[in-house]
Amino acid sequence: MPSRGVVIIGGGIGGLCAAIALRQAGLEVAVYERAEAYRPLGAGLSLWPNAMRAFEALGLAREVAGVGASWRETVIHRWDGKVLSRLSLEALCREMGQPTVGLPRAELQQVLLRALGPDVVQLGAACTDFHVEDEGVRVTFADGQQVRGDCLIGADGLRSVVRQRLLPEVRPRYGGRTSWRGVVNVASEVIPEGGQFEFYGPGARFGITHIGRGPGGMWRMYWFLLVPAPEGGRDAEGGHQEAVLSHVRGWCEPVESLVRATPESHIVRTDIHDLEPLPRWGEGPVTLLGDSAHAMVTDLAQGACQAVEDALVLAKLLREDSDRVRALRTYEARRRPRTAYVSELSRRAGAIRYLRNPVARWGRDLLMRTLPSSVALDQLRRVVGYDFLVP
Ligand SMILES: Cc1cc2nc3c(=O)[nH]c(=O)nc-3n(C[C@H](O)[C@H](O)[C@H](O)COP(=O)(O)OP(=O)(O)OC[C@H]3O[C@@H](n4cnc5c(N)ncnc54)[C@H](O)[C@@H]3O)c2cc1C
Repeated sequence: MPSRGVVIIGGGIGGLCAAIALRQAGLEVAVYERAEAYRPLGAGLSLWPNAMRAFEALGLAREVAGVGASWRETVIHRWDGKVLSRLSLEALCREMGQPTVGLPRAELQQVLLRALGPDVVQLGAACTDFHVEDEGVRVTFADGQQVRGDCLIGADGLRSVVRQRLLPEVRPRYGGRTSWRGVVNVASEVIPEGGQFEFYGPGARFGITHIGRGPGGMWRMYWFLLVPAPEGGRDAEGGHQEAVLSHVRGWCEPVESLVRATPESHIVRTDIHDLEPLPRWGEGPVTLLGDSAHAMVTDLAQGACQAVEDALVLAKLLREDSDRVRALRTYEARRRPRTAYVSELSRRAGAIRYLRNPVARWGRDLLMRTLPSSVALDQLRRVVGYDFLVP
């Protein structure tokens, strides 16, 4: 059986970026994706300047920014509209030389697929197992197909099969919250372009971001709602919109009207999980990348951004070191502390956002109104201002 070079399991954002970066590094790559087709996912994504820097290194920053909209200021409100904080991101973006971009996930995927070209991604290929052999690794799929690779990258997400084979004892950890995400085209601007708005209510957080223009020049908006809830909750058939409204009814405009304008089919519900830092990411010619290695709660919107960083670092090290196994261990040694740090900060950011107790909320709101924005910016700088390509 001939080797397919680097075999990547999972064609999500992490797997596709890794494939592009590895091909640019001169390596042969094959991606195996379980889904039968790439479908519009009905959700948006925020990309911080650290991810945009990685796209710049891939030669894709302009195209990625072009399918979305950038924002320069985050404004946090109380549920009734009172402004709690304003954070200008202009200085940070200037320092990083990259914008902050909101965009539809499906269009990002299309940009990545176009950059990769045909015949790299095999759809409908669900990995079930792998075996390390003398000369690399043999991977098995649900339909009985087998392929050989010089190394194997498990970019297969939160419930990674590759990780389960390496670390069977690891289970995703429930983050205590469920999320709803919606995408809607609207005729008016809703919130000023260049702004990202958030609203904190009792035990709930709602966010709105521009993600570019829809048909006929309409404004395309992405919103999300996060609420503490027991794991595994489901909405009644056709009941996503009503479930969201039950949490935000009576909140200031444009929250309720944006939810009402969103077609039911454009709303998705997802429980939020993360992983405790893993004791190791790989062995021999096998490693992990993206959510399979370090899924994190969404409070800093860094999960995909970290997967893109992983991809660039992995490709750089595999290009520089012809000893593949050593390059994988160096990659893990670089990425494990960085992603554990961002994951921990994400958990901490979430700790004060979903308070129900009125006294605790009053204290939090007071802190937010009085805290100098330089403090928040310094923390953000440690997350997004990091030069991931420098050892
Ligand atoms: C509500 C919510 C909001 C978020 N918002 C943001 C944000 O604004 N910014 C941000 O940076 N991050 C955000 N994230 C995190 C981000 O979505 C993830 O970190 C990112 O998608 C991880 O990419 P990935 O490629 O590692 O994994 P995934 O996107 O999960 O991709 C894994 C791929 O592997 C495939 N696969 C799985 N198993 C197999 C198998 N056995 N064989 C073959 N293929 C397989 C899957 O079909 C999938 O295509 C958010 C997450 C959630 C839940």
